[in-house]
Amino acid sequence: MALSNEQYDALMREYNHKQSRNSRIVSYRTKELYSAVPSLTQLDEEVSKISISSITAIFSGKDIATASAESKKKLEELKMRRINLMKSAGFPEDYLEPPYDCPDCKDTGYINGERCHCFKQAAINIVYKQSNINNILSKENFDAFDLDVYDNDYFEDGSELSARANAEIALEKATNFVQNFREKGGNLLLLGRTGCGKTFMSNCIAKALLDQGISVIYFTSSELFRVFEEQTFKKNANVAELHDHIFDCDLLIIDDLGTEFQNSFTTARLFQCLNERLLRNKSTIISTNLKLEELRDTYSERITSRVFSNYEVIKLIGNDIRIKKVISK
Ligand SMILES: [Zn+2]
Repeated sequence: MALSNEQYDALMREYNHKQSRNSRIVSYRTKELYSAVPSLTQLDEEVSKISISSITAIFSGKDIATASAESKKKLEELKMRRINLMKSAGFPEDYLEPPYDCPDCKDTGYINGERCHCFKQAAINIVYKQSNINNILSKENFDAFDLDVYDNDYFEDGSELSARANAEIALEKATNFVQNFREKGGNLLLLGRTGCGKTFMSNCIAKALLDQGISVIYFTSSELFRVFEEQTFKKNANVAELHDHIFDCDLLIIDDLGTEFQNSFTTARLFQCLNERLLRNKSTIISTNLKLEELRDTYSERITSRVFSNYEVIKLIGNDIRIKKVISK
């Protein structure tokens, strides 16, 4: 883990904040609920009486199984009465449940002593300065994906499909990728000119997978190449560990491949990385403005054909000005 002590402490403080926020909300709601439905207090008293009387019964020689079965039944009845009272006063039945950001670890960051997926992703966000990822992703997700920005009467370079028909296929492939991710993984190559919604689509995928607790690292290709360079020229441990995440995260997104400053060194590192991820069965999404032929010219056919034969291609076409206007709203 490439977190410094300070970063770790800052992260744990965030979890503490979340926990105190949750308990403030619960105690506020408890007061609100009990003043709206005072008979709940009486119900609570009955619950504690039942627990006490079942213990007393056991101590006075009653069969344990019978005593606990009886009290369990009574407690169930009280629970139902409680839910009905809350509902008829207009409160949802989980009103006093803490509003966890992550129900899996109950906002503690740990499950059975192991770091929770939410902790791992938070660490990745810190290390890769992805602090803005959540903001972008709150706007760019499948719910906001609007097929209507792709025109029915827009065609490109002799393509048989309209931009709209093409986008429908692209969207289906992207949602399938998300649905099958845990089982099948896989890799995507998003092709299309600037402004056709490639980044938007890869953000939609990232958002859906992050919500499932899958670790995602997002880089523009220039940023990624900078990390490769730093790793080679500044041999410090932090950068080396950082590098491990790039090989190991569940999904690596490389945006805008082909816009980086290229030299034979960075190119070799890129394909070493992509190859290594294939061997480790880790998924990668690459988006690029380059056409397949241009990719081959830029990065050598031998490498591109080997790597990209493992990628499913999604192509987006469309009237970029119109799409940009709608997407950047
Ligand atoms: Zn968690």
